[in-house]
Formats: sequence, structure tokens, C-alpha cells
Amino acid sequence: MKKLHLLIVLVGVAFQCFSAPKIILKLDDLSVKSNSITCKSVMDLLIEKQIRASFGIIADRCDNTALASLAPYLNAKDSNGAKLFEIWHHGLNHKNPEFGGQPYAYQKSHFDEADERINSNLGIQMQTFGAPFNANDSNTVRVLCENKNYKVSLFGRTPPDSSGILNLRNRVNIETTTGNPSYAAFVDNYNAKKNTFTDYMVVQAHPNGLSEEKLSQFEQVIDFLLHEGCEFVTPYEYYLSLRTEETTHSSTIQKIIGCLTGEERNIYSFHANVLK
Ligand SMILES: [Zn+2]
Repeated sequence: MKKLHLLIVLVGVAFQCFSAPKIILKLDDLSVKSNSITCKSVMDLLIEKQIRASFGIIADRCDNTALASLAPYLNAKDSNGAKLFEIWHHGLNHKNPEFGGQPYAYQKSHFDEADERINSNLGIQMQTFGAPFNANDSNTVRVLCENKNYKVSLFGRTPPDSSGILNLRNRVNIETTTGNPSYAAFVDNYNAKKNTFTDYMVVQAHPNGLSEEKLSQFEQVIDFLLHEGCEFVTPYEYYLSLRTEETTHSSTIQKIIGCLTGEERNIYSFHANVLK
């Protein structure tokens, strides 16, 4: 029985070590004005390849044409009927600094106004936040924690455990400079991190107005990751998958405990307390 248990553990560990990391595409600076979507070519490419991705939207840089222009993209689904794209909060006006470095009241008003505007204009309740220039401080964490709709932070400061907010930090660069994706640089970065970031990687890019050559570099990265066997997920989807895993583990443990005799339960409780 002990040998079987050891084997199951080893298979689990091996699976964790050798399976490809999940990929979260963090695509910054989405804006829509006069029916023009700044990163349309990348959105089209991702739909064609059926790749899940997430886009950081800047509320001030969207006008009243945004909903009609974005609707086909917001409703794009994969073959299982799941939505391909998540839209996340990337500030109200993206001025530097908009969050980290500003007083609490300033950050709070910018956070809430952007949240409300995207909600009322696009009908989206965002659940993920990534600060412009990734500039965060303790006030940013406070503001984020105060809005209970938000569950994920991208490259933020770690919020308290009690907030339940997941902070995603496993960054792997695709760009050599902002707006310049490089396939060769990405492969080097991926290989340097793949034994460390075994669970997930966040790949940040600025896909606005990419030239054909830059789009081709981006596409080569996507093809490389597909070849590696990576699964693409959105930030919120990744958060939900961890919650499901936690629930499954805890219900499995409860089932096992239910099968134990009274004495075995006492021994289990003793060891569980020691391990805490
Ligand atoms: Zn940005």
C-alpha cells in the first residue's frame, strides 16, 4: 500500500515537472477610438489560431464606438464555446504615474472611475488589474482589495492572503523594448525560466499597431509555445482553475478522512497540526 502511495506521489511530481507551463498573454494598452481598435491585427491572429489571451484596456482611450467595434472580439469563442479574450483594468488615463506613487484618494478615484466606465460602456465587469507601467505601491493594493470584483493582480505587490486576490508574477519577456516582440529573445527567456516557472508564465506585450514583421515575430512565439504543448489561459481563468484544484483536493482529503477509523483520524489530526 505504501509503495502504491509513493508511486502515485512520484507520478504527480513527474507530471508537474515535465508538463508545459500555462501561458497567460498579458497584452497591454487596448484602446478604441473612431471605430479603430489599436491591436486589431493581433486580435484577428489570436482568433484565427484559437488562442486565449487577455487585453489591458485604458478607459479614457475608448470612445462611444468601442462597444460596436469590440463586440465581435468580446464574443469570440473557442470550439468549446468558451470566450477567448479577457479584458482587464489597465487604468483610467495611463499617465505616469497613475497608481504607484500617487496618494490613496487619487488612485481610488482613477481605479473606480475606469471600472465603472468599462462596466457601463462595454457591459464588462473586469476581474483583473494591471497598473500602467506596472507601477504599484501599498495604496494600489489597498484600492484593489476594496473592490471585491477583482480577483487577480498582474505584476503587482502581493496582497494579504485574506483578500483572496491572486498576484501573478512569473514574467517571461517577449519584447526587447516596448512594442518590439522578438522570437529569438523570447525562446532564450523561456528556456531560462522553464525549470523555475513550471506552473505558469505571464508573457507581456504591447501589440498596438504592429508592423507585418513585428506581427510575424509575435506569431512565431505563439507557434513555438503551441509546439511546446503549452495551454493558453486568461488570468481570471487561471485563478478559477486554482480554486477548482483547491476544492477538489480538499474534498478528496475529506473523503479519505471519512474512510479512516477513529484512531487513524486522531493520528491524521495530530500530523496535520504538526505540519501547519
Ligand atoms: Zn500600459
